[in-house]
Amino acid sequence: MTLNNPTAASMRNKDDLIVIAGAGGFIAGALTQHFADQGFTKIRAIDKKPLYKWYQWVPGVESLCLDLEYRDNCHRAVEGAVEVYNLAADMGGMGFIENFRVECLRSILINTHLLQASYEAGVDRYFFSSSACAYNIDLQQDPNVRALKESDAYPANAERGYGWEKLMSEIFCQEYWAERKMKTFIARFHNVYGPYGSWDGGREKAPAALTRKVIEAQESGVMEIDIWGDGAQTRSFMFIDDCVKGIDMISHCDELIATPINLGSSELISINDLVSMVEDIAGVQLEREYKLDAPMGVAGRNSDNTFIQQVLGWEPDLPLREGMEQTYNWIQQQYADRAAGLPTPAADEK
Ligand code: NAD
Repeated sequence: MTLNNPTAASMRNKDDLIVIAGAGGFIAGALTQHFADQGFTKIRAIDKKPLYKWYQWVPGVESLCLDLEYRDNCHRAVEGAVEVYNLAADMGGMGFIENFRVECLRSILINTHLLQASYEAGVDRYFFSSSACAYNIDLQQDPNVRALKESDAYPANAERGYGWEKLMSEIFCQEYWAERKMKTFIARFHNVYGPYGSWDGGREKAPAALTRKVIEAQESGVMEIDIWGDGAQTRSFMFIDDCVKGIDMISHCDELIATPINLGSSELISINDLVSMVEDIAGVQLEREYKLDAPMGVAGRNSDNTFIQQVLGWEPDLPLREGMEQTYNWIQQQYADRAAGLPTPAADEK
């Protein structure tokens, strides 16, 4: 880490216990690796998925398979912990969020129990992974977006299901600080992408889905790609390394206690341009078929990074093209491994 912001490595003893929930998944898997790389010797990684499905399994880390919807499991999870990172949620890309709203809402059980268990266990710092889906959707009806700033979550009109769960869990975190003086930290992630995440099966997000489709077209020789919506919708995408770095800095910045903050890239791109980027990386050009009745979410969304710049003097900044090249290479390898009959990690099916 090049910046002087406090991080776990600068604030903690290396044998303090760090607990990471959702560690079989994309972001928490990378966070587990990050803390192991920093030299932490006691890390407990938890996910409800069986271990063979985890994207990253880090040697030396206590890796447990526990369903954190249940209170007793949450108590077991945080025993002895100094810091807890909650990234466990039943979630996926637009297709999942629009079709499985009940599942998304039920993730509130995870945060509710994990937060209370952490409070009872005397945990010093608790991080919650919120989302840009917590923002008022009325502000996201135009592809030429005004980037969303933190105050735009209110008056509340979050994305149905998933967004409301995030907003309500944020409030839990804020009140545990206001009433009980437990230090909580809340980052609103804007789309995260990179290696070691969902790339097929229904939970994958646009960068991974489009990459897989381009690879499939090449492999099959059918040079077509289907695109959800008209492709004019815009988003920003944050590379996983920036996300992990941001989580660490946010969780150790006392100015940010109980204060939701954007953690996202501000490099806006339309889905059509993202497809062109992947085509360019792959060296192909495909015929585009637009599926106008497919889930496509809001028309446009970008991250206003004024606040994070002000507090941390930093914002996620890896250029999308660079991150997409790494992502492409990883997915291509996964695709080849699977075709060769080798085991590849996976999200739970839906
Ligand atoms: P992911 O699906 O790869 O990881 C989430 C993990 O949580 C999965 O491995 C899943 O098995 C686990 N999980 C679900 N229910 C559980 C339970 N009851 N008990 C224990 N584990 C459980 O997703 P991700 O992309 O790594 O997202 C991590 C967090 O970041 C989530 O809270 C998500 O809502 C948030 N987020 C992600 C993005 C993104 O673009 N990836 C954007 C905004 C917010």
